[in-house]
Amino acid sequence: MSIRALKGFKDILPDEAGVWQHIEATAREVFHRFGFTEIKVPILEKTELFARSIGEATDIVEKEMYSFTDRNGESITMRPEGTASVLRAFIEHGLQVKLPVQKLYTIGPMFRHERPQKGRLRQFHQMSVEVLGLDHPLLDAEVIAMGWLLLDELGLSVSLQINSLGCPACRPAYKEALLSFLAARQDKVCEDCQRRSSTNPLRVLDCKSAHCQEQYQAAPSILDHLCPDCADHFRRTRAGLDLLAIPYQVNNFMVRGLDYYCRTTFELLTDALGAQSAVGAGGRYDGLVEQLGGPKNTPGIGFALGMERLVLLLSEQQPSAGLSQQADLFVAALGEAAGAKAFALLHLLRKKGVRVAMDLAGRSLKSQMKQADRVNARYVLIMGEEELAANEAVLRDMASKEQSSLSLAPALDQVCAELIKKLN
Ligand code: ATP
Ligand code: MG
Repeated sequence: MSIRALKGFKDILPDEAGVWQHIEATAREVFHRFGFTEIKVPILEKTELFARSIGEATDIVEKEMYSFTDRNGESITMRPEGTASVLRAFIEHGLQVKLPVQKLYTIGPMFRHERPQKGRLRQFHQMSVEVLGLDHPLLDAEVIAMGWLLLDELGLSVSLQINSLGCPACRPAYKEALLSFLAARQDKVCEDCQRRSSTNPLRVLDCKSAHCQEQYQAAPSILDHLCPDCADHFRRTRAGLDLLAIPYQVNNFMVRGLDYYCRTTFELLTDALGAQSAVGAGGRYDGLVEQLGGPKNTPGIGFALGMERLVLLLSEQQPSAGLSQQADLFVAALGEAAGAKAFALLHLLRKKGVRVAMDLAGRSLKSQMKQADRVNARYVLIMGEEELAANEAVLRDMASKEQSSLSLAPALDQVCAELIKKLN
């Protein structure tokens, strides 16, 4: 019996690669426009890093992490998200010394042991960005605007929801208000929510049960409990979005699944993927660098976009996105002598940057023309025995069907130069 991939782990096949590359290339280009540089961090980290940043009483740390003891008896974890690792690297290498504001992005696989569904996998990919060293509200607007612009350039329309989670000065009072609201309703909510009420009360607002959500309609709003500084920060963040004409809805019940968030949080949502409605999400995490042992007063903000969900949306909304010409030219050679000449010509063309293919096995002309179609070649150069005897090859434009001849008499690098002229 053959071995299959693990449940929730997926191969990205050649047919899909174009869309993935298109999304990644667009993202990099947009991130660079905003002054971000790439950082690459390891997939494995000490388990403690995630417990200390994401929070012990979160779904991710409680039940979704791939953690194991390695051969030295150390508990390590396959990263479930990118922020913790990027911050660890930022602190470990003292990056703040080099530049007061660091704008970093990273792209790669993440691992969470959840129930696989459409747009929800156990190995999935995120493009995530972090800005460290600044807490200006216009930065929040700018970071959100970058995510918005990227999705716009990909041709995707999403909606934006924002909220403020306050700060350690004002959240405790809100927690109290929420707790007394919940205390009166313990028998009306699910078991998970009853448990969360004592471990992590804000998280109840994130419950997926419609019945619980109905109860929470009347819950107190965090926005009525913000301290003056947080209220001002939220007001100026929204004003920043208004300046950029980016539409948003304020959702005062959006809490996000990671403990480290404070002040601005946001989600980019679609209604095209069923329950998997978030294509991206993020927020501010001002205390996190210090909490991980880094320098004091290093505020931060970031977001992550889910690649699989973007790929699904793009393949549904624009099936041709990311499709590209796989070859500029296919050289169809027949017979050993022509094959040898074509083989040498191919290498010269590739050195000059031409994407070119041939059939090394030298099958029939009919079969080679089929192969040329399959790689979507713009031109085919036919080098048959007859053509070779006359020292000429035939160049066919596959779209217009026009043909012209190419002399094979000169030295091969001259033939190559002539051919390139005809291709352009
Ligand atoms: P959800 O509510 O869908 O579980 P989340 O709040 O757990 O999302 P984040 O941790 O904020 O997600 O991750 C940011 C983005 O990464 C999400 O908006 C989503 O696009 C993507 N993502 C998260 N978990 C998965 C997964 N298991 N499979 C595929 N994509 C995912
Ligand atoms: Mg989740």
